[in-house]
Formats: sequence, structure tokens, C-alpha cells
Amino acid sequence: MRYLITGGAGFIGSHLTEYLLGLGHEVTVLDDLSTGSRANLPAAGTETGLRFVEGDVCDPGTVDTAMEGVDAVFHLAAAVGVFTILDKTLSSLRTNLTGTETALEAARRHGTPILVASTSEVYGKNTKDGLREDDDRIVGSPLLNRWSYAEAKALDETFAYLYSAELGLSTVIVRLFNTVGPRQTGRYGMVVPRFVEQALADEPITVFGDGQQSRCFCHVSDVVPALVALLADRSTHGTVYNLGSSEQVTITELAKRIISAAGSSSSIEMVPYEKAYGPGFEDMQRRIPDCGKARAAVGFAPSRTLDDIVAAVIAERREASDNALSG
Ligand code: UDP
Repeated sequence: MRYLITGGAGFIGSHLTEYLLGLGHEVTVLDDLSTGSRANLPAAGTETGLRFVEGDVCDPGTVDTAMEGVDAVFHLAAAVGVFTILDKTLSSLRTNLTGTETALEAARRHGTPILVASTSEVYGKNTKDGLREDDDRIVGSPLLNRWSYAEAKALDETFAYLYSAELGLSTVIVRLFNTVGPRQTGRYGMVVPRFVEQALADEPITVFGDGQQSRCFCHVSDVVPALVALLADRSTHGTVYNLGSSEQVTITELAKRIISAAGSSSSIEMVPYEKAYGPGFEDMQRRIPDCGKARAAVGFAPSRTLDDIVAAVIAERREASDNALSG
């Protein structure tokens, strides 16, 4: 098979690329390297089966050319991370809306099935235990910068749904719940790599808010095969699937676990939201998925625990700093 992965040099995209290449498929990665990195990917060439195109997912000509001869598309390119969304709200909104419409339109022209990556953020402040795909969205004012990400992704979902329902394109949508693992950077705000880096440096762990907010973190290696299976199975198309773990942890507990697993002497520093993100920030208190639909469709059942994830990220960061010292 020949796949196109938009955003393939990013955290999830690069794991997906590696997985597909490992199965003997050919992969074209389209990435503008705004938050992704070439270093996340193997060398391009006929031996590896990887083709790398540096370009903008909002540019119709670039996307159209990258999609030529491709059997299926993973559209992962997006502006990601709470810091990115708050710092560059307008350009993030454009990337996340125009990029998806451009990818869908090219897929329609080529008649290529496409998976569109969405996010658990679309549920907003709905704190239900076990969010299902048809549950209501509870979001704040569209004038609060954070919600622009949820709004853009929700519209992306509607676009993908309508390209399927009205235009007959094979589309499938996934809502990712805090996907984490090796190679994820903390630069854009993601909590696990930030805490691990702070712990390894014995610096204070910055817990935002009261630390009682919780998340379910899912290992990227559990998510990636499910993305491939959902796109491969035509019976899943035209609808949306949650993908995440059901193991819930508060952010303070996460900090403690990371300090302990790293053998760190870090303290915990409570940082008010306003100081961390600026005025008017609203956080989600909890976000727990019900992944029964993906389980029934493709047998989705994450096997890595939070402790496995923390150990893997610590090991990766230690190896990276050892390599930097010896190199
Ligand atoms: N968070 C934190 N310290 C940090 C970074 C994040 O306490 O240095 C918190 C953040 O406020 C949120 C949770 O960790 O409550 C998860 O943040 P992340 O940005 O990783 O994911 P999301 O908020 O999108 O679920």
C-alpha cells in the first residue's frame, strides 16, 4: 500500500510512519516542519520506502501532488499544543480549518480514503465518566482562545462527515485523548514530556491550577495500529471513534509518579492557570473516554499502563541526553 501522512514528521505521525514502513508499505510524509522534525523520521529513499515532502497542508497544489498514486491518507497535520494555540491563535485556526478542507478536497478529487485526526477537546467541559462519541459538547465562549482549537476540530469533523455523507468520499474521524510517548516534545505545553524533563533536571515540577484535574494518557504505540485498522476497514467509514486509555490520573498524582519513577529530587510547584496560560483560561477538569465503539470495530484495547508510559518517556529522554553528552 502507498500512504500519505500529513503531519508525518510530528509525534504521532512519525510513529505511524515507522509502523507502516515496518509493515512494508510505502509512505509519503507531507509536513511543514513547524512543530514536527525531520529527525523524527528515518532517511528517505527507495530502501526505506519513505518519501518526504516539505510543504504546507493548506496549499491545494502541494497536497494534490503529494496525493498522486496514494491508496489512503492519514490527515494529522495541525497546529497542536495548548501553548501553540494560545500564542498563535489565528494562524492555528487557519491551519486547522483550511488544512483539513484542503486535504479532504484533494482526497475527493483522487477518490482516496482519508482518516481525519480530531481530538477529545471537542467534548470541552463535559466531565461525564466515559465520554461517548454522540455525547454533547460543552465549550466556552468562542472568544476565549483555547476554545478555538475545539471549534476548528469540531468543524473539521463536520467537513469530514459531510464529504462522506454528501459526496461519497470514504472518511473516518478519530478523537484522540491525550496520546503520549517517546518523541513527544514538551515545547508546546504537553504535560508528560514537560514533567519528565523537569524531573530529570531535578527542577520544580510545574503543576497548573490545583492539580486535581485529571486526564487519561494513552501510549502512542497503542493508538497507531488502531488508526491503521480503522482506515483499512471500510465499514468504519462515515463516522467517528474515540481512541484513548481509561486509566485516569490527576495531574498532581502524575507529577508524583514521574518524580518517583525518575528517582528525582524535584519539588512540586503549584502555578495558577493565569500565570501559566494568561488571563481567562479554562481547563478541563476530567476527560475519560468510552472506547467501546473502537473496541467493537477493530478490537481497540490499549495494553500499556501509565507506569509503562512514564518509564518509556524517562528512558527515551535519558538516552537522548546520554547521546548528546557522548556525541
Ligand atoms: N499541565 C500542568 N503543567 C504543565 C503542563 C500542563 O499542570 O507544565 C496541565 C494542564 O493545565 C492540563 C493537563 O496538565 O490540566 C494536561 O495538559 P496537556 O497540555 O498535556 O493536555 P490537555 O490540556 O490538552 O489535555
